[in-house]
Amino acid sequence: MKDGVYVYLWGDSPTDDLQLVTEMKAAGIEHGIAVFYGKHPVNRTLFDGIKRLGWVAGVYRMPTGNLSHVSRHRGWPNDLLLGKLDPDRFRKNSDGKAWDRICARHILPEWIEKARALIHDPGAQLAYFDTLVVQLAPCLKLDHPSTIEENQQARLEILQKSRDLGLIVGSGEGLSPTWALPGIDFFEGLMSLRTYADSKLKIPAGGYREDNGDSYRNDAAIVLDETKRIPLYQLAFHDYVAGTWVWRDSNYQSAAFAHKKDLFNILYGTMPMWHINRTLWEAHKSDYVASYRASAAVRSRIGFAAMTNHAWLTPDRAVQYTDWETGDRVIVNFGNQPFARPGKPSLAGASFALERK
Ligand SMILES: [Zn+2]
Repeated sequence: MKDGVYVYLWGDSPTDDLQLVTEMKAAGIEHGIAVFYGKHPVNRTLFDGIKRLGWVAGVYRMPTGNLSHVSRHRGWPNDLLLGKLDPDRFRKNSDGKAWDRICARHILPEWIEKARALIHDPGAQLAYFDTLVVQLAPCLKLDHPSTIEENQQARLEILQKSRDLGLIVGSGEGLSPTWALPGIDFFEGLMSLRTYADSKLKIPAGGYREDNGDSYRNDAAIVLDETKRIPLYQLAFHDYVAGTWVWRDSNYQSAAFAHKKDLFNILYGTMPMWHINRTLWEAHKSDYVASYRASAAVRSRIGFAAMTNHAWLTPDRAVQYTDWETGDRVIVNFGNQPFARPGKPSLAGASFALERK
């Protein structure tokens, strides 16, 4: 997590995926977190193999369910809390079973047993809980009602109790709420500048099959605008929580913007995220290896450090730096022109430097 890359594996079988990670390691990707969505089952052989390579073995899970399964009424938690929906009528028209999945207090005991099995059977070391910290609501089920605050507290307990069992725990997807920090090691989506359900700025629809495509220009104008982005979250919490992009907005969602995303990861000291299957690995191997080496060179020094400052060195904000409690300074030139520095080598366009302050 300090200097590795966060990788969703999409091979056809456990054997395929272990072979891919073995090849990645041999190519120089020393540290990674291998996450499995459920395209195929995971097993002890796969996870032991990943651990022997010095990588972390992780799983995608969704302990809590989607709010939309309770009701198609968009934004229903807000409308309920604001008194715009009649609770009794809403409950009658809702899906009775779906309440059981969004109600964390109800689901907690069952989840703890599942988490124990994940650790005991395949030997999972890490779990990503998709949208657990994002989809908050009150529970109106008559046999286990709870307020939104009680649901939030029980969601925090799902995170903390999973961690107490020994798992590295992450959640998110566009929102990285601070109430979850005491239960969390990393956020997916911390880099993505989007909320989960904002219709105007939603996370792009691309999946791993669209990785290394070219569909990102409109998104890049917002997400990768170095003149507007400021790493507020990292300034506050970099030494406390790790972060990465989301899987529909990975570093290689668009080949044309992959390098710029790497530069943001390097400047902010955050984790790159990749999708890997046989086709993607073989077509872009040298890009992945170069990207890993650049990011690991910086993050191995400051991956868990406190960020102490961020500022720009040019009026157009093309050249920026971050300072770290280790005494390191990371300088990134997002622009095309070399950045001349008196008494020091100039910094080429679209490149970075790691220096002592
Ligand atoms: Zn409930």
